[in-house]
Amino acid sequence: MNFLEYAPAPESTAILNLRKSYGLFIGGEFVQGHGTPFQTISPATEASIAEISNATAVDVDLAVASARRAYDTVWSRLSGADRGKYLFRIARLVQERARELAVAESLDNCKTIKESRDVDVPLVAAWFFYYAGWADKLDHVGIGPNPRALGVAAQVIPWNFPLLMLAWKIAPALAAGNTVVLKPAETTPLTALIFAEILQQADLPVGVVNIITGAGDTGAALVNHPDVNKVAFTGSTAVGRAIAKSTAGTGKKLTLELGGKAANIVFDDAPIDQAIEGIVNGIFFNQGQVCCAGSRLLVQENVHDQVVERLKERLSTLRVGNPLDKNTDVGAINSRVQLDRIRQLSAIGEEEGAVRWSPECTLPDKGFWFAPTIFTNVSTSHRIARDEIFGPVLSVLTFRTPAEAIAKANNTPYGLSAGIWSDKGSKILAVADKLRAGVVWANTFNQFDPASPFGGYKESGYGREGGKQGLTAYLQSGSAAVQPVTGQRIKKSITKGVK
Ligand code: NAD
Repeated sequence: MNFLEYAPAPESTAILNLRKSYGLFIGGEFVQGHGTPFQTISPATEASIAEISNATAVDVDLAVASARRAYDTVWSRLSGADRGKYLFRIARLVQERARELAVAESLDNCKTIKESRDVDVPLVAAWFFYYAGWADKLDHVGIGPNPRALGVAAQVIPWNFPLLMLAWKIAPALAAGNTVVLKPAETTPLTALIFAEILQQADLPVGVVNIITGAGDTGAALVNHPDVNKVAFTGSTAVGRAIAKSTAGTGKKLTLELGGKAANIVFDDAPIDQAIEGIVNGIFFNQGQVCCAGSRLLVQENVHDQVVERLKERLSTLRVGNPLDKNTDVGAINSRVQLDRIRQLSAIGEEEGAVRWSPECTLPDKGFWFAPTIFTNVSTSHRIARDEIFGPVLSVLTFRTPAEAIAKANNTPYGLSAGIWSDKGSKILAVADKLRAGVVWANTFNQFDPASPFGGYKESGYGREGGKQGLTAYLQSGSAAVQPVTGQRIKKSITKGVK
């Protein structure tokens, strides 16, 4: 039941100045790729937005060569303060073009405009501002005096936070003095390409950042390129594993930010109203397509019925629909492939005996939609309690004691995030200490700050992004006499050894 009806309030797309066709951003300009171009579409309507270039191995070579040239001739010679000036400039341009970026993100990814406008884009600017401040203070990162950049960073990102993941990758890399080749996901390349225009506006030296579009083959060619010194990947655990294998023994430094299956633990002394909002935010933010989503709700048994009832009431007020409408709470799923996966895992949930519930809501005929869904009667052995669904689907489990909550929360191959809801600070600290999760939120969920490191344990990956930890991933100690490893340099030193 909808308690309030709102008049439509769609954000205008008139602010966008999109090209019909985008090339690859290599050497400071858009160039045609060698592969067959593809379309990026709006997942809400399936309408085409723009034609996108498909980078082949030849294009990857060109992009890496461009980044190498920029590293050797310009970027590695600039002072930290000068690099910082460019980052500040980029941050300010992101703020100036914030509305345009938010509309483009909601069009291409179909996250709600509320989220792209109030969360994604402000955080993108914050990330650049934060790392701009670090660029001339690398001596204080914690790895000794005069830390040095690694060289060329290959960065591959997913579709759930296209622009924010770009900022998480590019800002620390540039602050630390590296140059970059970044590949956005094939379903959400648009904001990365608009960001390339921002780099032109900022007069960033040519080749310092190169953006190439394409699918998995392009990503594989990039991370396996011999002249790359650092690989930073955010995406699925399966692909992360393949990258770990292929980069092992190459000397490339690797950061992996992978999947998750976070527990959101609600104790019976929790402020329930606040917890309900936190549970909703935890799993329905960005349609649940969030690596750190609170997809497993662990509720203390004596408040289970109350929590589930209140949750159903709250879900009935969520507005599902046009992501560009300012009143929409839940947008579309990013792709048909992802929608099929969510449908398949939800069907398995029912087959395995969990009880499925969704509020009444009319879904549009066209596009990729999935109603917010809760599963109750879930046990730890159910697939929906173990596999990352990456959609607006919450699995509810119960516990009786803090020890049981901890055991169930840790009973997962992942370890990215967790939430705890309780009135007792001492209980929160004691439980948080025992959770094997990279980030633990207390009486809140999904809070991100550039100064705070983010990353996982176990199959959620390794390395940290954000904070000074995020910088060390792009630096090597200044005292070590190690030269940046490149394909060419490796060859030379082997030849010398043979002589
Ligand atoms: P994905 O692994 O399929 O794709 C991620 C990126 O990798 C895309 O750009 C894709 O084109 C590229 N890619 C695909 N195959 C590749 C290969 N063999 N070599 C190199 N690159 C390749 O993941 P996805 O479906 O786009 O994203 C969803 C996943 O990302 C979820 O599992 C989610 O949990 C995870 N994620 C993690 C974080 C985090 O910080 N831990 C953040 C966001 C998303």
